[in-house]
Amino acid sequence: MKTIIEPFRIKVVEPIRMTTRTEREEILRAAGYNLFLIRAEDVLIDLLTDSGTGAMSSLQWAGVMRGDESYAGARSWFVLRDTIRALTGIEHVLPTHQGRASERILFELVGGPGKVVPNNNHFDTTRANIEHTGAQAVDLVIEEGRHPTSRHPFKGNMDVARLEALIREVGPERIPLVMITVTNNSGGGQPVSLENLRAVREVCDRHKLPLFLDACRFAENAWFIKQREPGQGDRSVREIVRSMFDLADGATISAKKDGLVNIGGLLLLRDAELVRRADELLILTEGFITYGGLAGRDLEAMAQGFEEVVHEDYLQYRIRSTEYLGEKLLAAGIQIVEPPGGHAIYIDARRFCPHIPPARFPGQALVCGLYRHAGIRAVEIGSVMFGQKAPPPMELVRLAIPRRVYTQSHIDYVVEATIELYEQRASLRPLAIEWEPPSLRHFTCRFREG
Ligand SMILES: *Cc1c(COP(=O)(O)O)cnc(C)c1O
Repeated sequence: MKTIIEPFRIKVVEPIRMTTRTEREEILRAAGYNLFLIRAEDVLIDLLTDSGTGAMSSLQWAGVMRGDESYAGARSWFVLRDTIRALTGIEHVLPTHQGRASERILFELVGGPGKVVPNNNHFDTTRANIEHTGAQAVDLVIEEGRHPTSRHPFKGNMDVARLEALIREVGPERIPLVMITVTNNSGGGQPVSLENLRAVREVCDRHKLPLFLDACRFAENAWFIKQREPGQGDRSVREIVRSMFDLADGATISAKKDGLVNIGGLLLLRDAELVRRADELLILTEGFITYGGLAGRDLEAMAQGFEEVVHEDYLQYRIRSTEYLGEKLLAAGIQIVEPPGGHAIYIDARRFCPHIPPARFPGQALVCGLYRHAGIRAVEIGSVMFGQKAPPPMELVRLAIPRRVYTQSHIDYVVEATIELYEQRASLRPLAIEWEPPSLRHFTCRFREG
């Protein structure tokens, strides 16, 4: 087997700047040890998120120039609509400025007090939009999906027995739809099998419930199905994508992930009556139904992005880069959530720095350590992000991989720096919160060290 290479050559470069350790020490101190509060220019390798941080292709940039900026009925809109119809087989395509706008419209229509919405794991904006309407968001991922070292091939699957039990308990009339997130972002970017989607669809059919996909990473999920699911290896990713959407009544999508663009979203619907009501809300808050809060050039770049993301050489490189990072860290004895997911590696920070108790934020200590040591920006997913009400089950640090941005040598640098830091992990310093807002504190809170 030869090295799996980046399936592109580089036409435009954006310099990144190395800072000195003394500079980074000062930057950290001035930002209250919160990496959301530093300038992106002061970061060497930015693994904060894979959302909207990808690189566009030459054809996408050509599309930007072709963009039709007409208010209504722009050519670029029809290009996008036809691309999405061909890819998903879903007739009604509503453009939005990003995924959460699609969620807000959908749940304003079907949510409300007393309603219950099951999912494998709700992403935080999905949960927030459901709860904002007074409805309840319930997570039903399989048991293996809750254990960081379980090597189940489809750890994102929904527990079908628990779904049945929930429907029996609350009654189908209180469940407006069942949702499945592919891949399961909050569960570590883990895939959902076609077999599981079919089983959930069967339950939905029996109770006459619609099934929706939170399809932000549909192409990465389809690649995992092709690699791992019996009987799927000889099918194309495009065919598998179609099989996934064929099982759904609709989908919310953030194009900032598998749309390969920096901004954009979609709401896909089959039900004409729901479309009529969704169009009204779209016009009220996003924009007319043929642009939905986006410029014509954005629609054009999105259409091309949704074509390119199902290219199999791209997906092989994409999923392999993440797996490569995960395997190298595991080989050095660093515990991660296993197996590696599609878009990110999650380091177990409690195991990385056992000398720091959860109350002193081991994940944040590791995030600060990675920046101080090597200029790498990661994000804490543990007590800082989720511990304001109750302690979370795990202290994780996420290294999210932007699409088509970094090469293998960048990833090697991240591996080397993380292993060096692991060798001096006793030097990582505990933190205490100096100031925090009443909610969503991870974005703006300030810490002190020691
Ligand atoms: C990013 C994301 C969203 C929200 O999309 P935005 O474009 O950030 O609003 C919803 N669900 C999942 C699974 C996501 O990863």
